[in-house]
Amino acid sequence: MRILVVEDEKKVAGFIKKGLAEESYAVDVAYDGVEGEYLASTNDYDIIILDIMLPKKNGFDVVRDLRVREIKTPVLLLTARDTVEDKVKGLDSGADDYLSKPFAFEELLARVRALLRRKDYGLAELKFADIILDQSTRKATRGDVVIDLTLKEYGLLEYFLRNPNKVLTRTMIAEHVWDYTFDSDTNVIDVYVNHLRNKIDKDFPKKIIHTVRGIGYILKEEE
Ligand code: CA
Repeated sequence: MRILVVEDEKKVAGFIKKGLAEESYAVDVAYDGVEGEYLASTNDYDIIILDIMLPKKNGFDVVRDLRVREIKTPVLLLTARDTVEDKVKGLDSGADDYLSKPFAFEELLARVRALLRRKDYGLAELKFADIILDQSTRKATRGDVVIDLTLKEYGLLEYFLRNPNKVLTRTMIAEHVWDYTFDSDTNVIDVYVNHLRNKIDKDFPKKIIHTVRGIGYILKEEE
């Protein structure tokens, strides 16, 4: 999952990015409203965490203009002012949820998970064939076997499980699992997909991750 954080306080932005990266999310950061809106309209993010008080353009205006442009990415607004007026204004401008600063990081994570679940129709578990990824405990199993995944492998498997039976190009994978520092000239995606295959496919008779030659990969059951 790829998240955009729009926050002008560098310390807060850094703290959020670091914490989310530790949970396997790919994170881009923008430090003002104009840059944030630009990134939000040119990349396919899964969630946007948007501060209200921002230089150049405030968070209310950013989310309103994104919605006008039919960009429906879930938005979690952050604010230093915990007033009913701000909450109402935020939700009316098209934000999906609201968090007041200062917040405990655990609460931010819970809100992020809740917004992602809303997209998944409320499922805490992602399943495909005999693979289960429990998003609350972050545990992957195939049949009875518990599979230990690194952060990137987890992010990759999560993206595959959210898009079964669909050809995923390397560009799509890069956009959802890596952040904007990703260098598309490398074979890093193939390397990580191979790591993941070694863990979830290699020792099992039925393979589920298949190469689509010249394009990318697909998660599907063999006929
Ligand atoms: Ca701010």
